[in-house]
This record gives sequence, C-alpha cells and structure tokens, in this order.
Amino acid sequence: MTDSLLTNGTFFFPGPTEVRPAVLAALTQPMIAHRGPAFESMYGRMQDALQVIFGTTRPVYVSSSSATGLMEAAVRSAPAGRILSIVNGAFSARFAAIVQACARDGDVLDVEWGKAIDLDVLAERLRGMRYAAVTVAHSETSTGVLTDIRAVTRIAHENGAVCLVDSVTGVGAAELRFDEWELDFALTGSQKALALPPGLAFAVASKAFVEQAGAQHARGLYFDIVEFETYALRNQTPNTPAISLFFAADVQLPFIAAETMAVRWARHAAMAKRTCDWVDALSARHGGALEVAATPGHRSPSVTSIGLPSSITGSTVLAAVAQHGFTIGSGYGKNRETSIRIGHMGDHTLEGLERCLAACDLAFDALLR
Ligand SMILES: *Cc1c(COP(=O)(O)O)cnc(C)c1O
Repeated sequence: MTDSLLTNGTFFFPGPTEVRPAVLAALTQPMIAHRGPAFESMYGRMQDALQVIFGTTRPVYVSSSSATGLMEAAVRSAPAGRILSIVNGAFSARFAAIVQACARDGDVLDVEWGKAIDLDVLAERLRGMRYAAVTVAHSETSTGVLTDIRAVTRIAHENGAVCLVDSVTGVGAAELRFDEWELDFALTGSQKALALPPGLAFAVASKAFVEQAGAQHARGLYFDIVEFETYALRNQTPNTPAISLFFAADVQLPFIAAETMAVRWARHAAMAKRTCDWVDALSARHGGALEVAATPGHRSPSVTSIGLPSSITGSTVLAAVAQHGFTIGSGYGKNRETSIRIGHMGDHTLEGLERCLAACDLAFDALLR
C-alpha cells in the first residue's frame, strides 16, 4: 500500500465504506470509448484481479448496477423449479423478495436474526421437498452473521439444487474460493469490502450454471448472465458501462490482489475480533448492557451489529460518536434503533479501527453514565 490509505479514516459505515484518495481521483479521468482497445485492456486487468479476489478462473461479470441487480440476475437465470431462500436478516430477505418479484415459486427457511442456518435443518428441508435453487447471504450485513456457504452449497448439491450466494459483504473480507468450493453463482457490490464507490456489481457463475441459464426464458435483458458471459470473454460489457467507476476499479482491484486474499481475510478477521472484544469490555463496564448480535463462531469479518440497552437509541449513539468525528452505522430494518453497526471492511486497518473504537468509548461512557 503506497499511497495514503484513507481519506481521513473516520468512515466506519457498513457500506458504502471509505474509498482511498487515489481511487476517488481516478473518477475524474476523461471518457474513453467502451468498444475499443483501451477499455478492453482495462477490463482485462480488472479480470485478472477479480479472478484472484473470487478464487476462480471463470470470467467475472462487471455490472453497472448496485449488487441487487445481480441478485435479480441470479434468480432469473436459476434452473426451473422451486427456490428456497435461507432468511436470517434483511438482505437474505431481499433475495426471497426478488424470487417473489420475478414470479418464481419460492419458500422461505426462516432463521432467527443473529444466527446462521443449522445445516441439519437445511439438509432435512431439502430432502423433504425438491428445490432447484437455494439463496443465501454469505455475510448478512443487517446482523453481522457469517454463513458457511461452502457447506450450504454442498448440501444443496447433494439434493439436486444449485446455490445462489449473496457475498456482498463477504467477497474481499471473508474467505471465498469459487472454484475450489464448487460454487454455482456468487456476487458482490463495489461499495462494501472492495472499498470502491457504489455503482458496480461483480459476479461469477460456474460453466454449468451458465449453460443451464441459456434454457431459462425469463432472464430479461439487462441482467442476462448469458450476455454478461459472452461479452466478458471479449473483455467487454453488454451495454455502456459506468466508465468512471471502471477507472476507479482499475486502480483499486490490483491493490487488493497485491495484498493477497489470505492477508486481507486475516486483516478483516482481526478487525472483527477486536470489535467483538471491545464490545465485551464496554459491556462489562456497564453491567452487561451491550452485546454482539451474531452468535460466536458465526461472526462476519466485515460488520459487527451491536445490541443496545433499552435506555439509549441507535440515533443517540450515532450522534454522540459523530461528535467525536467518526461515522458508524445504525441498525438495519427492524433493529434500526435497538442496535448499531460498525463496518470494519475494505481498506480499514486495525490502527484506524482503534481510533474509531476510542471515539465510541467516549460516546458510550457519556451516554451510559
Ligand atoms: C449492501 C448489500 C446488498 C445490497 O446491495 P446494493 O448494492 O445496495 O444493491 C445486498 N446484500 C448484502 C449482504 C449487502 O450487504
């Protein structure tokens, strides 16, 4: 990491996250033609880095949309039949909502918020009814729960289903090895653990998944993965891409690949552990008033959701932390006021996180006095 890492290292929001100055500067470059050698070689460089990031030799699709677009792409190109959605928070619930919106037959396998799916329960459900696909959130950003997507995919395969993985706060922070784990479809967004501005989404599909997708007739046009595959193989995109965001990605993705995924995963794991230890210490000072929402052993490396005592609201905490110069996130969905979330992903470091947690300490100690 050669340039100064962070704009100022104060933005611990769980997406978008902080973007380094060199990446922001790349956004101001003049336009280039998207059907031409300059664009194609840029896309080629991005492919090289993205393949390292996803652990794949497959082409990586780059969509000029937010991540939700590629969640819809996954559902629209899934094999015919019922889709089972594992729902343990707001984003996995969105996957289930997309299944409905695309008029696919779907069922929800509800898991208590804060928990990961019990793999035996999943296996039993899949044995009891024939499903064509399973949807799952790798890192459920609303609660900070990490799910073992390798095991979920294996169980899906044992029961004749494919697995569609939303790894929006996973890819780049949590271990994910697309080829080795024999995943079918995995997607992420630019604004989370890849520390890019919002507006791009990235996905990989297995060869078999793309082949069967060709037979699905409701793929639509903008999010058709068969089109993405065809164009990606030529280092192009089906439509006019968000060229400025590609310039930014062309700067950032090689930084990520150069850090190496093992080092990056370890850095994120260390930030998550530090945050959870900090919550425990803070809670101990205040009579056990706070707790990490996700169960131990299933905690996301990129985001920690923290349950608050009933005496304070999320907005009060955010305002107090802001007074000390740091931005953290509110709770999400039904937990908006009863929890807060700290996003420790992307280019953030343990040292930067310490400063954020020190600011949070000051805020909490004043509020809970
Ligand atoms: C942020 C997020 C999304 C939605 O991404 P958009 O880019 O806003 O469409 C989906 N899933 C998870 C797990 C996320 O964290």
